[in-house]
Amino acid sequence: MKKPALTRDLLFELPKSDLHLHLDGSLRLDTLIELAASRKVKLPSATPEGLLELVFKRAYKNLPEYLKGFEFTVACLQDAEALERVAYELAWDCRKENVFYVEVRFAPQLHVRGDFGVREVLRAVCKGLQRAEKEINNDPSVKSGQLPRFRSGVIVCALRFFLPVFGEHYRAYFEALPSAKPEEIYALASLELARAAVAAKEVDGLPVVGLDLAGQEHGFPAKDHQAAYQLAHEHFLGKTVHAGEDYGPESIFQAITDCHADRIGHGTWLFSKRHIKDKSIVDKQAYVDRLVQYVAERRITLEVCLTSNQQTIPELRTDLRKHPFKKMRESRCSVTLCTDNRLVSRTTMTDEVEKAVTAFKLEPRGLKDVLTYGFKRSFFPGSYPEKRDWVRSVVNRMEDVFLAAGFDLRGGRR
Ligand SMILES: [Zn+2]
Repeated sequence: MKKPALTRDLLFELPKSDLHLHLDGSLRLDTLIELAASRKVKLPSATPEGLLELVFKRAYKNLPEYLKGFEFTVACLQDAEALERVAYELAWDCRKENVFYVEVRFAPQLHVRGDFGVREVLRAVCKGLQRAEKEINNDPSVKSGQLPRFRSGVIVCALRFFLPVFGEHYRAYFEALPSAKPEEIYALASLELARAAVAAKEVDGLPVVGLDLAGQEHGFPAKDHQAAYQLAHEHFLGKTVHAGEDYGPESIFQAITDCHADRIGHGTWLFSKRHIKDKSIVDKQAYVDRLVQYVAERRITLEVCLTSNQQTIPELRTDLRKHPFKKMRESRCSVTLCTDNRLVSRTTMTDEVEKAVTAFKLEPRGLKDVLTYGFKRSFFPGSYPEKRDWVRSVVNRMEDVFLAAGFDLRGGRR
């Protein structure tokens, strides 16, 4: 009999989750072009090929080039109809490659216009996701229990840093508070966002499941956003923080201690002593060891985005094996794979899983663990018993798919 292998077909078929997925970085190109035409947004090219060549590249020279695409997508997403549409399409695009759970994140404040406030923005995105969810779960194969249900949630992103030009909502802060320090303004905007997220969840009943912090880490500490995270914490929202992406272990430390992070976006420099800047940390190795121990033991899940890291971290570009994914696994951290941005990073979940399997020689059982963490550590928008049953249904499906490919991973050790 032929030796079973982790083929791309198998990776495609396996149930996956995507816990780190930016709405504004994951549009369909055709949709972006259509929205730009109807919303009078000027794009550098009117064809998908042109946009792939000029904006959404496979490799980027630097971070500003990587971020350029978001200017165009955000400009096209300034009304309920556009937001609902892209959320709906994104859910379907994910499900088509057997992603059964998505947490779609974005900064609602970037989409606010006049009366169209943060809660309305969230309502539009949730409407799109829920419409897709309903359609997907109406399928006979789901109803009969043959396939797990597709579920989704929304994470709101506070920004570590912003300028008045980022949008109407942000500009209003600077105009209203001309003598405030920038970090006071960041803190206020984040707190306001956290309040809106809590209201969207508790009052509007929307599947808003978490708070995130995005944007440049260096010089813009997580501490500024402590009040927002405290509020989220007190209202039982999930907490994740982009950290350890362009700054080191201290940034992850701050995410955990100042923001009560349940998960870390990227965490790429978790082990990197050379990224430690604080002079008072004398024994850098001990600092890292304690941090890793805490992250692993508390099951603070690392949302690893391999392609995105390769695009923004030059030393990983040519050799992905330098990525600490393997070390994270060896330290027994809870690690999962995510796309970050399906369009901007030109990737899919199948691509990300394939990259991990190839670069780090991930074995079937290890792969099953990584995929399972994505479901278990999700900020699932339902009751805990419901979550447990649903995770079980996903893992059953995963085992069935593995088994059909010749890997028997049912139960414990065998
Ligand atoms: Zn991200």
